[in-house]
Amino acid sequence: MGFFDSLKSLFGGGNRLGERNQQVYWIYVRCRKCGEVIKTRLDLQNNLSQNDGGGYTAHKTLVGSHLCFERIEVILTFDENRRLISRDISRGDFITREEFEAAPHPE
Ligand SMILES: [Zn+2]
Repeated sequence: MGFFDSLKSLFGGGNRLGERNQQVYWIYVRCRKCGEVIKTRLDLQNNLSQNDGGGYTAHKTLVGSHLCFERIEVILTFDENRRLISRDISRGDFITREEFEAAPHPE
């Protein structure tokens, strides 16, 4: 979270510059160890690695900040149009945005 928060403050908190060009995919997970919910943002323009056979892959490591420090590894695969085609996770479970919002999480 810290990285984007510091970016935000760097740009004066919520400046709209470049927002129209952003393709962002939000990842919501629940830690299997402690149940903490975590979200992270994937920038589809800058955070994807191109695969040899076409399409893209993104690796993300999410670390809970409040309850434990388990590293949750997420691998997302996208087609050449940057649409999600498969996803894999270890030490956590994917949840929906609704589940994330409904879960108790200290802010
Ligand atoms: Zn945890």
